[in-house]
Amino acid sequence: MADPTRIVIIGTGLAGATAAGELRAQGYSGQLVLLGQDTHRPYELPALSKGILLGEATDPDWVHDESFYAERDIDLRLSTVVSSVGDHEVVEAGGTRHPFDRLLLATGSTPRRLEQLPGAGLAGLRTLRTLDDSRALRAELTAGTRVVIVGGGWIGCEVAAAARSHGAEVTVIDPVSLPLRGVLGDTVAGVFRDLHTEHGVTWRLGTGVTGFTGESTVTGVSLDDGTTLPADLVLLAVGAAPRVELARAMGLDLAEGGVAVDAGLRTSAPDVYAVGDLAAHDHPRHPGRLRIEHWANAKDQGAHVARNLLGAHDPYTASPYFFSDQYDLGMEFRGLADPATDELVVRGDLAAREFIAFWLRDGAVRAAMNVNLWDDGEALGALVDNGVRVEPAKLVAGDLASMMG
Ligand SMILES: Cc1cc2nc3c(=O)[nH]c(=O)nc-3n(C[C@H](O)[C@H](O)[C@H](O)COP(=O)(O)OP(=O)(O)OC[C@H]3O[C@@H](n4cnc5c(N)ncnc54)[C@H](O)[C@@H]3O)c2cc1C
Repeated sequence: MADPTRIVIIGTGLAGATAAGELRAQGYSGQLVLLGQDTHRPYELPALSKGILLGEATDPDWVHDESFYAERDIDLRLSTVVSSVGDHEVVEAGGTRHPFDRLLLATGSTPRRLEQLPGAGLAGLRTLRTLDDSRALRAELTAGTRVVIVGGGWIGCEVAAAARSHGAEVTVIDPVSLPLRGVLGDTVAGVFRDLHTEHGVTWRLGTGVTGFTGESTVTGVSLDDGTTLPADLVLLAVGAAPRVELARAMGLDLAEGGVAVDAGLRTSAPDVYAVGDLAAHDHPRHPGRLRIEHWANAKDQGAHVARNLLGAHDPYTASPYFFSDQYDLGMEFRGLADPATDELVVRGDLAAREFIAFWLRDGAVRAAMNVNLWDDGEALGALVDNGVRVEPAKLVAGDLASMMG
């Protein structure tokens, strides 16, 4: 492939904006267009369910300073929807065309909305994905407001914590018996349930939502036990769906709900790459494909893909990593666990919420999560990356730095 002179990136999220910056850092001097429908310049999402909702910040972390794009001749086009991609040409909804030699898809994902349920079209059913969503939600989290959150995943839990900090009455509904159970398993998920219970959250666990009630605006959530919860504010936090519309119309191979990419983040079309939430990656160290919806994945894949857009074909090999903050609990999670089958080993004190959880498969560390303990990050990363085989008793009491493999 000849060196590209025209690169177009669709998506001004963390992955797309990081890639644009890294292309210039790598010395790429050709045309560089960064297109996205958001009205704000690229920003990171974590503060949307934490600092901004808590009232600690009004702005998110911006991916780059405002002047960054013009200074580096990056043609940042906000409030711009891409409607189609033709043969080496991106077409904006308004008709403007952008020819390309290489294209990066970084279209991320969008919150699921439970469209099949009665009342799903009512006004006031909120989701949280954009800065505008977060600021609007923050304005309504006030003392006594009855907030019903559908979904006890990471975003549901973080919003619950923020809402309680403002004195809102919070109920979280989930059809599963514990929040975060699919990711953490019963024992560790129980820590999160108890944390929120202690802060005044009401759980409706093991309970499904059957619909939403209200005249034109939602005022209640109907449950499969026959009850209806009155609500001033309803947040749907039931996961996100990758935005594959463009990729599908282009005929790209899809996988795991996203766009299939090889080890070097290239799609089934030779000049088209995909990163971030969208990419279902053929990871060299994991069987099957990984599609990861985390901050670090978007940032690291965005940085990594720049070299490959310029002609390299380096495999992306980083292990999954994410973090969350809820009340006074902060945690980091490295690796991939199947808590239903992996062996759980706990070091530290679950009840005090100061512990490290390890998940082992065939005696090897597959994942590790540190809660309110911050000194062993490097060792935990190495234990996971190297799949170190170690006796559970040593994980519980030994010197982690000496086990890195
Ligand atoms: C509220 C919230 C809190 C989070 N907190 C954490 C956290 O604490 N820790 C963690 O690890 N992860 C967290 N995440 C997840 C993490 O932030 C995401 O995985 C990551 O930001 C995804 O980045 P992305 O660039 O792939 O996608 P996105 O951020 O979704 O960006 C994609 C962009 O593409 C645009 N786009 C899509 N289609 C088109 C089109 N046709 N035309 C034009 N533009 C288009 C979208 O408008 C969007 O701006 C959080 C996510 C959310 C929503």
